[in-house]
Amino acid sequence: MTSDTFRAAARALLDRADILAGHTETPGQLTCTYMTEAHQAVASQLAQWLRTAGCDSVHVDAVGNVLGRYHGTGAGVAGRLVTGSHYDTVRNGGRYDGRLGILMGIGLVEALHTRGIRLSRDLEVVAFAEEEGVRFGSTFLGSSAYAGHFDDRLLTTLDRAGTPLSQTLRDAGHDPAEIARAAGGASGIAHYFEIHIEQGPVLLDLDAPLGVVSAIAGSVRRRLRLTGLAGHAGTTPMRLRQDAACAAAEIVLAVESRCDGRNGLVGTVGQLEVPNGSVNVIPGACLLSLDVRAADDATRDAALADIDARIAEICARRRVSLESETLLRASAVACDPAGREAWRHAIGAQGGAVHELVSGAGHDAMMLARVAPVSMLFVRCGAGGISHHPSEIVTEADVAAAYAAAWAFLLAYSA
Ligand SMILES: [Zn+2]
Repeated sequence: MTSDTFRAAARALLDRADILAGHTETPGQLTCTYMTEAHQAVASQLAQWLRTAGCDSVHVDAVGNVLGRYHGTGAGVAGRLVTGSHYDTVRNGGRYDGRLGILMGIGLVEALHTRGIRLSRDLEVVAFAEEEGVRFGSTFLGSSAYAGHFDDRLLTTLDRAGTPLSQTLRDAGHDPAEIARAAGGASGIAHYFEIHIEQGPVLLDLDAPLGVVSAIAGSVRRRLRLTGLAGHAGTTPMRLRQDAACAAAEIVLAVESRCDGRNGLVGTVGQLEVPNGSVNVIPGACLLSLDVRAADDATRDAALADIDARIAEICARRRVSLESETLLRASAVACDPAGREAWRHAIGAQGGAVHELVSGAGHDAMMLARVAPVSMLFVRCGAGGISHHPSEIVTEADVAAAYAAAWAFLLAYSA
């Protein structure tokens, strides 16, 4: 393959992303949530492209994952290569989040097929039906089913209109009872690789088109409620106050100062609210969220322990009480060392510097890591690194670089 062919493949990919973006629930924006009309239209378009790309078999499973298989020679190797990502979007999202990885997979099959190349292993491209958790509030519906970790209790979950997930599936022609059988993906995977837009500004800042993901951060999310004492803003002396918002302010800064970025450690208070607050009332309560992530669970938990100690100290000093609820605890996933090495090699062969970075966002690869070694390639995100937003953008040159790297990776992995 020449740089011109990678460039042409990149151009075709961007065109296809535009076509997919035409299927939306909200005209003028891109919203494609699980099992809506737009979502099903995207699935059939992807199935059609997988067929025309040269896949030997294409099918849609019971949760709506679209799978295409390009047979290898099977010469003396066990297990198949799997690549993919998700095709659902957030509300008013970008057109490359998830879809970039699926379309790259389709483009790779196309490139193999038109050249009459058969890898030693089967290559499977999977378009996961759901990752973002927008419609039913639960993420990874597609990849959890594929990996054999679908939680059946989710079938009774309701969307905002009050429709259970099970009914939504039946309305779309799927049989929820078949989901357990969709887990054919769980065995026989030699390696899963996911190509994804970075969704952040790191590669942009490094001036690098591509990056190898070292680990996907594990996160802990909490909701905190601070209770102090409301009082008159004019008559209560400063030293007699139990101001819940002042305690929250100290906590916000404590989180910021503890989360120093080492080992991917980041901490955020994204929600901060004084319920029924008033201009002339000392805040008697304050609600805040806490999100802490790191490349490994030990780093994250050490930070959380320190933050908890600081919160206890702040609350005691200010005579404010604390209630804390853990909403999410997800373990970090280390990417496969051999996969990372193969990506480093594939990028290095293009002559550029090789960068590794931690993925602060969750990806389908986290689910696949339960059943197979996984690796990820990040593609630079333009426009300041913005994602989950209509301004999300990649360049044709960067996608071409990703194709070149993926091609080298594929040939290395199939040897
Ligand atoms: Zn994504």
